[in-house]
Amino acid sequence: MKAFVTGGAGYIGSVCVEELLNAGHEVTVFDNLSEGHRGAVDNRAVFIQGRLSDEPAVTQSIKDASPEVIVHFAANALVGESMANPGKYFRNNVAHGLNLLDAAVACGVRKFVFSSTCATYGPPETVPMTEDLPQRPINPYGESKLMFERLLHWYQEIHGLQFVAFRYFNAAGASMQFGEHHRIETHLIPNVLKVPLGQAAHCEIFGTDYPTPDGTCIRDYIHVIDLAQAHILAMTPGKRGFFNLGNGDGYSVREVISTCEKVCGRKIPVIEKPRRPGDPPKLIASAEKARVELGWEPQFPKLDQIVASAWEWHKKHPNGYTA
Ligand code: UDP
Repeated sequence: MKAFVTGGAGYIGSVCVEELLNAGHEVTVFDNLSEGHRGAVDNRAVFIQGRLSDEPAVTQSIKDASPEVIVHFAANALVGESMANPGKYFRNNVAHGLNLLDAAVACGVRKFVFSSTCATYGPPETVPMTEDLPQRPINPYGESKLMFERLLHWYQEIHGLQFVAFRYFNAAGASMQFGEHHRIETHLIPNVLKVPLGQAAHCEIFGTDYPTPDGTCIRDYIHVIDLAQAHILAMTPGKRGFFNLGNGDGYSVREVISTCEKVCGRKIPVIEKPRRPGDPPKLIASAEKARVELGWEPQFPKLDQIVASAWEWHKKHPNGYTA
């Protein structure tokens, strides 16, 4: 199929583009490079540098690419930043995303695959979390993604634009070629790995007084290649709906740090800090629906495999995509 991938120069997008190409699809990447990197775009893909805020450019790019499917990764995705600057999240993730939906309809695209998030649920009453739980986000990032999910619902109802929305849990790890490089890194695993890379003296734990066994937040980490594979399955005609993507295993911040120590073979000093606003204590997926309805089967479900792939990539690219 021909796929138009927004945010294909970003972390998850770059690995998904690589997997799409490996599976024989044709790919056009549309990215403004505000968070993404030109070097993260697989050289088999067509690359367009453009902004979703520029609706004529979006429409023209889709017309030229004539895709059967749009895969939409481009977004701001930091919980903490969204608590300080909510307008950025509603503008970029909702308003500018709406330009993409309108362009999809105008160009006759019939299928849309969207990167949503477990942050749309807010703190759950029970884990593992299934797709039918109430969605009560506690930060503007999650709220903006939930708003876009609602737009998708109406565009499917009214315009017949079929969608799959994936609610990612915590993406981590790397492929052989592409990995995680944010200009300002806030994510746990890459920040912890800065210590064995010699780029930081210690890592930080945000909050040690959560109602969890060791007091630190629990997350469900999922290998970025496994996320990418789900997108390919979602492109199968007839597939639609909301799907969680996670492994169903929760790891605390302290457990992630000790896994990093094991994988790297080094002690990683820690500093305990106060809670980061907007963080739910515990998020663990049930991805049963994706397994049953899409036939999705994670290849790298274990945290040490995920961390090992990240560690390999960071050792090879200590400055990420910066030359
Ligand atoms: N975290 C931390 N230290 C860091 C980065 C993150 O303790 O340097 C915590 C963060 O507060 C959260 C968990 O690790 O509880 C996962 O955070 P991350 O930013 O990786 O992903 P999120 O769950 O926010 O999408």
